[in-house]
Amino acid sequence: MSAVAERLADIRARVAAACARAGRPVESVTLVAVSKLKPEALIRDAYAAGQRDFGENYAQELRDKAAGLEALAGLRWHAIGALQTNKVKYVARAAHAFHALERMDVARELSKRRMEAPLPCYIEVNLGGEQSKSGLRPEALGAFLEEARTLPGLRLEGLMALPPPTGDGEQARGHFRRLRELAREHGLTGLSMGTTHDFELAIEEGATLVRVGTAIFGERD
Ligand SMILES: *Cc1c(COP(=O)(O)O)cnc(C)c1O
Repeated sequence: MSAVAERLADIRARVAAACARAGRPVESVTLVAVSKLKPEALIRDAYAAGQRDFGENYAQELRDKAAGLEALAGLRWHAIGALQTNKVKYVARAAHAFHALERMDVARELSKRRMEAPLPCYIEVNLGGEQSKSGLRPEALGAFLEEARTLPGLRLEGLMALPPPTGDGEQARGHFRRLRELAREHGLTGLSMGTTHDFELAIEEGATLVRVGTAIFGERD
């Protein structure tokens, strides 16, 4: 068994335990294995162990890995990093979901390129105030959604957040709870939240996708 397969088995068990604590079916949570900056060989190891959802931050890296791993049937790429309009084409071509929607010009470009197969999207929300730079402020969400909902090439699934790493579980839980409430206020059901350090708390607070990198693939350089 590869090291990645062993770590994946451990993470899956922790996901299942968190689901059990929250009284949620385990199928209600998608584990996205964040493979940014990691070689294709490790993605193949994870795929061989049954993993199908992978997260990448950088558009060109996503493009290259999607091409290199094209033969792996059923693999789903999640673009999870900030995106600029000149790189939209890579994400539009390769991604099965986009988790970091926060700019209307990017939304329009993505929509144009996905008319035939609307792209599932999560709007990134900045819950950390000054500490984190990416994402929409909660009060800007309503106006953004109103316009984004008119774009035929996007499917607005939910909200995404990357709360500042506090090391404080209760503070992280508060962020996740806030994201869940915001989603509900805006009629969205998807919640992309929780990483290596806090994915179990995120599941307890309703995450539908968790994005775990380090705990599966090891530390990044
Ligand atoms: C890198 C990254 C992750 C994974 O973080 P880990 O701490 O390695 O689990 C999740 N979400 C986003 C947006 C990231 O950039």
